[in-house]
Amino acid sequence: MYLKALEIQGFKSFPDKTVISFDRGITVVVGPNGSGKSNISDAMRWVLGENSAKNLRGGSMQDVIFGGTVDRKPLNACEVSLVFDNTGRIFPEIEEDEVSM
Ligand code: ATP
Repeated sequence: MYLKALEIQGFKSFPDKTVISFDRGITVVVGPNGSGKSNISDAMRWVLGENSAKNLRGGSMQDVIFGGTVDRKPLNACEVSLVFDNTGRIFPEIEEDEVSM
């Protein structure tokens, strides 16, 4: 199974649509403390169905939605998608080469 990309919008520290592409080989996320690296793995857990706010490092499930900053209003929804390569038809019933969930 090849996960091609993670698309995040409105989740935690990602108010704008952000696409993280996973090229073949190793992908490394680098950034200072508190820059949002773990929010990426939280997004992946959330889209895969994690329903414990605590496991997503929040107090309640609403904490996964961008909560605003001094110069940006909070949002009221978020969206996360995983993009899988389907050229090998790992989803045999789907004819497309790429599948998002
Ligand atoms: P470290 O290297 O210290 O583990 P990190 O790079 O993994 O840090 P995260 O823990 O992913 O960083 O992100 C923390 C940042 O995410 C903080 O700045 C926090 O304010 C921000 N954040 C978390 N939830 C939200 C939210 N709902 N809305 C806006 N920002 C948020």
